Parts: sequence; structure tokens; C-alpha cells
Amino acid sequence: MEINFISKHVLVTGAGKGIGRELAKRLASLGAEVVAVSRSRDGLDSLSAEVKNIKTIVVDLADWDATRAAIQSAGPIDCLVNNAAHASLEPFLDVKPENFDKSFAVNVKAVINVSQVVVEGMIKRKSGGSIVNISSQASQAALADHTVYCGTKGALDMVSRVMALELGPHNIRVNCVNPTVVLTDMGRLGWSQPEKANPMLAKIPLGRFAEVHEVVDAVVYLLSDKSSMINGVTLPIDGGFLAT
Ligand code: NDP
Repeated sequence: MEINFISKHVLVTGAGKGIGRELAKRLASLGAEVVAVSRSRDGLDSLSAEVKNIKTIVVDLADWDATRAAIQSAGPIDCLVNNAAHASLEPFLDVKPENFDKSFAVNVKAVINVSQVVVEGMIKRKSGGSIVNISSQASQAALADHTVYCGTKGALDMVSRVMALELGPHNIRVNCVNPTVVLTDMGRLGWSQPEKANPMLAKIPLGRFAEVHEVVDAVVYLLSDKSSMINGVTLPIDGGFLAT
């Protein structure tokens, strides 16, 4: 299957490291004009040193007004990946309001904020578009110490379905991918110790965690015209974890 993004402007949030960074690099290699958004300048600077023609924007997505202004400055966008997320783990009885507020601000509220700005432009230009939100298996499975994170990803799945419903008539598709553990910085936070990793691995029929490129492959497909009739799905990339 030949996929390219030649002449497409694609905005990726959380592109400084992890999955978002590899996605930005892949999209650029497929011809996209990439706008890479993240909180820390360092990651974005090294990304633009590595890949030419990437525009970078530094903003804290938890800040509603600053984010709106930053995304408006990005210019017209054809495809959007809401990838940035915050994860902080704690047992249910220790959940702090600060974690709740920050996690929902980045993982859910910012997705709405960024998407509103991008979609307003798509509708005005009558261009259609494609949005992929990076959710998680945690949206559909209870994971110990993940009360807030699971809550944000469950909310993200439903927000995405309503976006698919309302934006479909504008030829704007909205889909989620729902990966299992990927050993990025975020993945290592919860799953680097064998006593946590091994019980999770035992529940994944393929017996391993996902690689970054396996998430990138699915996002590229959903973002592209090759998935032109796919709208409103939550696609597990989990080796069968959610099927069991
Ligand atoms: P990383 O922690 O490796 O990278 C997250 C990126 O998001 C970083 O570039 C980070 O910026 C950015 N970011 C975080 N908060 C903000 C903010 N407030 N404003 C702007 N940028 C921000 O995460 P992953 O690559 O692992 O995760 C990417 C996505 O995949 C997330 O949505 C995550 O929930 C999801 N996911 C991850 C899994 C995993 O096991 N890793 C499994 C399932 C889903 P900075 O460089 O400043 O930290």
C-alpha cells in the first residue's frame, strides 16, 4: 500500500520524544509538512536538527489560551495527531486533585482545544481532514494505579466518537488508536519493573509489548486517504490484550 502525505500539513502534539517524535519523522519522510508541538524546547530543537522542514511550536498544552494562540499560528492543517499526554500513577486512595486536573487538562481538554482550532480551519476551507487521537488500552481495561490515566483515556475515546459524529458531515474523520505498553519514557514509568511487566505480558496473547513503529504504522494508515471510510473507531494495537 502506497501512502504519501505530499503537500499535506500535519500537526503532531507531544512530538519532542517517544511515539510523537517517531511519528513526526515518519510523516516527514512520507512528504508531509510537519508541525511538531511539545512542551520542552530541547526535544523539538533536536528533532528539527535531525529532520529538515519541520516547523516547531513550544507550548504547554495544559494552558488553554496559550495553546489556542499557538495552534492558530500554525497555519492551515490537513491532518492532526493528538498524541501528547500526561501520566502520573498512584493508588486510587492516593489520587490527588492536582494529578486529576493536569491529566484531564492535557489528555482530554487540550485535545478538544487543539482540534477546535484545526477543525475551524478545515471547515472554513472545505478541505476535509483526518484526526487521530492517541488513546490507550487503558481506556477499556482497568489497570492498577491508573485511576486518573484510565479515566482520561476512557473520556478521550468518547470525545473522539462524538467528534466523528459531528465532524463526519464535513468530511473530517476522527479515529483513536489504543496501544498496549510501549517502552518509551511514559511506558517505563509503569512497566519497567519485571514484577509489573510480567503479569501484563502474560495477558497479551502475542506475549510482548508494542514497538513504537507498530503504533506509527497504524496512525499513518488512519491519517491517510487509504482509510477513507474509517471513522469513529478505537483501534487496539495490543497484541490481543483487549480481546481476552
Ligand atoms: P512520552 O512521555 O515519551 O512523550 C510524551 C510527549 O508529550 C513529550 O514530548 C512531552 O513533552 C509531551 N507533552 C506532555 N505533556 C505536555 C504538555 N502539557 N504540553 C505539551 N506537550 C506535552 O509518551 P509516549 O510517547 O509514550 O506517549 C504518547 C501517547 O501514547 C500518549 O498519548 C500516551 O498516553 C499514549 N500511550 C502510551 C503508551 C506507552 O506505554 N508509552 C501506551 C498507550 C498509549 P516533554 O518532552 O516536555 O515531556
